[in-house]
Amino acid sequence: MRDATIAIHTGYDVDPTTKSVAVPIYQTVAYAFDSADHGAALFNLEVDGFRYSRISNPTTAVLERRVTALEGGVDSLCVSSGQAALNYAALNVSELGCNIVSVPQLYGTTYTLFAHLLPSQGITVRFAESDQPTAIETLIDDRTRAVFCESVGNPAGNICDIEALAEVAHRHGVPLIVDNTVATPILLKPIDYGADVVVHSLTKFMGGHGTTLGGIIVDSGRFPWRDHARRFPMFNQPDASYHGLVYVDHFGAAAYIARCRSVYQRTTGAVLSPLSAFLLLQGIETVALRVERHVENARRVAEFLRGDARVAWVNYAGFPESPYHELAQRYLGGRACSLFTFGIKGGFEAGKKFYDALGLVKRLVNMGDAKSLACHPASTTHRQMSEDEQRKAGVRPEMIRLSIGIEHVDDIIADLDQALQATGSDYGGLLAAT
Ligand SMILES: *Cc1c(COP(=O)(O)O)cnc(C)c1O
Repeated sequence: MRDATIAIHTGYDVDPTTKSVAVPIYQTVAYAFDSADHGAALFNLEVDGFRYSRISNPTTAVLERRVTALEGGVDSLCVSSGQAALNYAALNVSELGCNIVSVPQLYGTTYTLFAHLLPSQGITVRFAESDQPTAIETLIDDRTRAVFCESVGNPAGNICDIEALAEVAHRHGVPLIVDNTVATPILLKPIDYGADVVVHSLTKFMGGHGTTLGGIIVDSGRFPWRDHARRFPMFNQPDASYHGLVYVDHFGAAAYIARCRSVYQRTTGAVLSPLSAFLLLQGIETVALRVERHVENARRVAEFLRGDARVAWVNYAGFPESPYHELAQRYLGGRACSLFTFGIKGGFEAGKKFYDALGLVKRLVNMGDAKSLACHPASTTHRQMSEDEQRKAGVRPEMIRLSIGIEHVDDIIADLDQALQATGSDYGGLLAAT
């Protein structure tokens, strides 16, 4: 099936008992055992089924199957937010004294997780000078447990050469973990290019309506944990917390995600609620359709901004002059993402006036909503960083990040135009000319 069909059907068929066509919300904590032996078999992971909703839930399982299919993996784990997904994805390959090698262009909170929280737990994150494979490779050593990147960086808008990064990671015997939140599997499937684990904030384009937090970790099932047993003892040696189970033996290709569920989800419980899973499933039904419109609207808006004398620069991968144009052709089929940045002439002050004058376009720090949104990273998502850290992360003081929604594009442009007008610059814009 194609993505648009998977997004509507995969993981659920008409409920055999009630004939419900919509995915039911299984708002339950626990599930009854047929007998003591049945309960024991469930706890021994000898039979499939549900025990307790901190571990798995039938509504959430539909969402897991659907996103697994969209990304082309073997299995997934839903969690309560994108940040929880990133934390678990990293912890699941880590042990005291190890390191993770990351590109520098990251979502602000991911940077905080990597630069501060993981190190406080004995896991170092080494930030490369750039997203180039050679910059990554020089930092990998025998204590490295993963290479990390965002397929399309938020907010930097850089596009990573996933195939090259996977090649470097695999040559050194470590997996590539990719945050695919900005691109979505509609534009890019990192597993097709060698990624081993894909992480999403479902909060953004996947859910698509700005109503529900959620995250997911998708396991490609391709990384040969068994061949790297010394580096990854957690998958290859008996787990004392799970009566001596060996993940690669019991779960085969799905060892990574099974351990994530039975170690991290079971014991620290960043659970997605069944109602949230239902709402995210509703959103995902239209993700293919929405992303198409997001992309088309963004192209029109980027062209408007580029042609406007009040705008200093537009960082949009769809333009031939973008350093990421070629990678956008290769990885996104030329469909540059609807999240991009631009700068207004007049620096920080003009940027602030513009931001304050926005009407239809909302001032906030979300993205991937049906509504058009604007954010000023330097004063919000990335304000905890030093200016040097900001520069490395692709953030400039005057930079405005836009997440172009699916409203009528003329209405979006009219709002941006009147806000540019309010910056008080002498240049004529669209409204002035018409
Ligand atoms: C929003 C976002 C996250 C965090 O997701 P939450 O669901 O808000 O926790 C992680 N990575 C990227 C790229 C994001 O845009």
